[in-house]
Amino acid sequence: MSSQKIAIISVYDKTGLLDLAKGLIKQNVRLLASGGTAKMIRESGFAVEDVSAITHAPEMLAGRVKTLHPAVHAGILARNLASDEKDLAEQNINKVDYVICNLYPFKDTVAKINVQIPEAVEEIDIGGVTLIRAAAKNHARVTILSDPVDYPEFLQELEKGEVTERSRNLYALKAFEHTADYDASISDFFRKQYAGEGVQQLALRYGANPHQKPAAAFSRLGPLPFKVLCGSPGYINLLDALNAWPLVKELKAALGKPAAASFKHVSPAGAAIAVPLTADEKKVYMVDDIAGLDDSPLAQAYARARGADRMSSFGDMIALSDVVDVPTAKIISREVSDGVIAAGYEAEALEILKKKKGGKYLVLQMDPEYEPSPQESRTVYGITMTQHRNDIEISPGSFTTVVVPKNSAPLSESALRDMTVATIALKYTQSNSVCYALNGQIVGLGAGQQSRIHCTRLAGDKADNWWLRFNPRVLGIKWKKGTKRPDKSNAIDLLVSGELPKDGPEREAYEAAFEEVPQAFTEEERAEWLGKLTDVVVSSDAFFPFIDNVYRAARSGVKYIAAPSGSQNDSAVFETAENLGITFVEQRIRLFHH
Ligand code: 5GP
Repeated sequence: MSSQKIAIISVYDKTGLLDLAKGLIKQNVRLLASGGTAKMIRESGFAVEDVSAITHAPEMLAGRVKTLHPAVHAGILARNLASDEKDLAEQNINKVDYVICNLYPFKDTVAKINVQIPEAVEEIDIGGVTLIRAAAKNHARVTILSDPVDYPEFLQELEKGEVTERSRNLYALKAFEHTADYDASISDFFRKQYAGEGVQQLALRYGANPHQKPAAAFSRLGPLPFKVLCGSPGYINLLDALNAWPLVKELKAALGKPAAASFKHVSPAGAAIAVPLTADEKKVYMVDDIAGLDDSPLAQAYARARGADRMSSFGDMIALSDVVDVPTAKIISREVSDGVIAAGYEAEALEILKKKKGGKYLVLQMDPEYEPSPQESRTVYGITMTQHRNDIEISPGSFTTVVVPKNSAPLSESALRDMTVATIALKYTQSNSVCYALNGQIVGLGAGQQSRIHCTRLAGDKADNWWLRFNPRVLGIKWKKGTKRPDKSNAIDLLVSGELPKDGPEREAYEAAFEEVPQAFTEEERAEWLGKLTDVVVSSDAFFPFIDNVYRAARSGVKYIAAPSGSQNDSAVFETAENLGITFVEQRIRLFHH
């Protein structure tokens, strides 16, 4: 067997090739190259043999088979083992020491407009990938160069003696990344061609904004877990749907009742489980005329989710844990909404939803059995980040550690239920977040604030507005005929928030909604009414750093706080809660979500 080192060179991108060949020859390396590569080296006057010199087989099938041969691959894959040496000797094969290879430009080809499948197929490199993988696999002995950028450093090392183990390792890593990226672009192309739109991949109308095109969603692990029954989702629709769905699935699993969520911009505006509605609740949530509401737990859950903060729910993405029935579809059909994801649809309910938005209403059917993989990743500014999915389970059993008051009586079922609703909602709310809950539903949620007190205030103000909507003055509003539902919600929000326009066109528009313009609430009236709100639960996605949060929560009828501990101010927070008659439950899991 010859002791001369051997390099196999087969490169599509011929950058730096001649300098490389020159450097290798200087080190007395025998060069073997595939057709085009050998031609270029030879024409420059350097000594090179065709790969066929060792395969004794011609390049064939118009280049489809060039280097695929045991003489090549056994030469690359052989280890420094006696048994491998014996095998090589029997077949008269020499070991290969260096492989220099880069691949056909599949990405560039498929990036061309209207590329046809046969053209793309010809750009699928077989032999090159095999060379690269074989050499990278055997990097304990073989050096694989898959990027021309690495040639000069490689030659420098070679001149000094041998390629170091560290360099071989790094070149092998690069080679594996190269083939993985190459294969990903091939499967991306064929997914688009063959998977069938909506099966394993889905074109999205655009990304977060209309100028962000193209946009798509896909799964590398077989079919998508949802089907598009109507409409065409945008990027944010899908972000909302895929956050809202696990929220309702987990609410149902934790509390055993159908659940609903109303999402906007990747946070819930409302979420609830099925709890029968009082006459006042039906009125405030604008569902008092829905036939069958009392017999439909799912409709009750959505009425609550949508009713929590009607203004924020305008144009929502809805998630429903169960099969959608007619009463639920009827509630949805007359609200301004972007879409719904649910476990399924009764035929009549689906017909109602398909008529919405001129037939463009987004209807997604989710596979309730779907379990995402435990690891999730995303790319931000070109960098991929991965993490274990937040698969922590929250249930009424998560709220057993009562910090204050000492020797507290066991918490009521409703308090545990509302803590569970609020805390699961936070798991799917952009942080920082604080959630107030009552009657099995969110009543105020503060999302995406950088300071915790701003969350607590925002959510508290929303809870106050929610409660003021139950004031007899609001319940007794006489609307001008023809006032639309969103205009009613906006007018009520102005009234209960105290943000009433004083004069001018804004005031005129406000007054135009009413038959009789309701009196504004005085400070005293407001305080008196808010004083009647009680038993509210607050959950926080991380600890309360200052006692101001506790004081603010107490002003909105809060009697229970569930939050992680860990602040330097923990003891002051607990003491303040106790002094205000609030039960503080330590919920140990931080629930940041982004
Ligand atoms: P050349 O220009 O030398 O004729 O071809 C170089 C290209 O062929 C490289 O991109 C390399 O990855 C690829 N290649 C090497 N061996 C084979 C083979 O056996 N079959 C195919 N289809 N491509 C190969």
